[in-house]
Amino acid sequence: MIERGKGCWLWDVDGNRYLDLRLGDWTLIHGHSDDDIRRAVDTQMAKAAQIGAPEWDVGYRMADLLCDRVPSIEKVRFFASGTDANLCALRLARAFTGKSRIARSVGGYHGTSDELIVGVSVLRPPDELHPPGVVREAGNNMLQIPYNDADGAEQMLRDHAHDLAAVLIEPVMTAAGMLESSHEYLRRLRAVTDELGILLIFDEVVTFPVAYGGAQAHYGIVPDLTTLGKTIGGGLPVSAVGGRREIMDLLEPGAHGGSAPVTVMSTFGGNSASLAAGIACLEKLTPESHARMNRLGNRIRGRIDELGTRYGLPLHATGLGHLIGVHWADERVVDEPSLRLDDREKVLNINLALNNEGYYQTFTGLFLVSTAVGEQEIDGFLHAFERALRTLGYAAP
Ligand code: PMP
Repeated sequence: MIERGKGCWLWDVDGNRYLDLRLGDWTLIHGHSDDDIRRAVDTQMAKAAQIGAPEWDVGYRMADLLCDRVPSIEKVRFFASGTDANLCALRLARAFTGKSRIARSVGGYHGTSDELIVGVSVLRPPDELHPPGVVREAGNNMLQIPYNDADGAEQMLRDHAHDLAAVLIEPVMTAAGMLESSHEYLRRLRAVTDELGILLIFDEVVTFPVAYGGAQAHYGIVPDLTTLGKTIGGGLPVSAVGGRREIMDLLEPGAHGGSAPVTVMSTFGGNSASLAAGIACLEKLTPESHARMNRLGNRIRGRIDELGTRYGLPLHATGLGHLIGVHWADERVVDEPSLRLDDREKVLNINLALNNEGYYQTFTGLFLVSTAVGEQEIDGFLHAFERALRTLGYAAP
């Protein structure tokens, strides 16, 4: 049982120490209990934790930070979870286009509402169309397009353009295995959605720390709306929807008062303590820290690929920047069909061996680098990874 964390380390109740490569379910880009974030929260708590008014200084400061960094964001609204943010983005897209269906990639996870969770094959058996407890009609307005298959996705978007409001996609499909989109795939989605009057929404709840301006800056593709969460709260709950002004304006009351065209509510959305934590977190997430995390991420991916080759195993790593996925499949895993070739049991066994060595990550073989981790710890992790292979009975010829 885990008791506490500091920087890149976690301690359990028995005093055992683990290198944390899971980071609060991918929320703690500066590691645990960061001193600057703690100070910012303390200062804000002494002023007001929760204000409940549209004008509050931390709200404006955070909005400025996001508008300055993220190419697609001209205006922003805060929520408390990634699910909330995605639901708001879908509502905006439907209101803006007057259409009702949403396309999303096969295998993509975007949150836990009924509509978002139907058919998410990484969580449920792919043929289970109606997970228990989810209303049967929840998936009626969702269309699943193939991931990383530009021609296949384009054809489906053309066939359904008349009732598609938006494409909701992660630029790197994360929970399914840290699978980066090809540039061509995202370029095509942008061109086709523009042509057909469909909005493009990037879910950057996880991918935002891939680059200073999010994964969209890395790819050079500007979506219409972007959703953010996890990292932007510095470990406290906050999320956001941002995007083109004319779409975001649907959340504003008219010039003469009255209700906004699109209604969304969130009591804790924009909670001041969370925003203070988020501001402190973003202020120290610099281009240099991204470059350093990318270097460490590349070192891990390169070394795992090399171990696969040296040991003659179908082991390889995927991902971008600080996001790393480990796979065991004869083909490189790039999309949902190749993900089905992945031997998850082999990956799980490596994870368990790493846990025993004092490393902590998601059991599905997904790892994150933070700014709190150093080269020495990463080298220690890579040696432990090789020892894990030997413990499991593999040997280099
Ligand atoms: N989008 C993505 C890509 C996610 O990974 C998650 C959660 N892991 C969400 C949305 C939902 O975020 P939350 O759990 O804060 O609702």
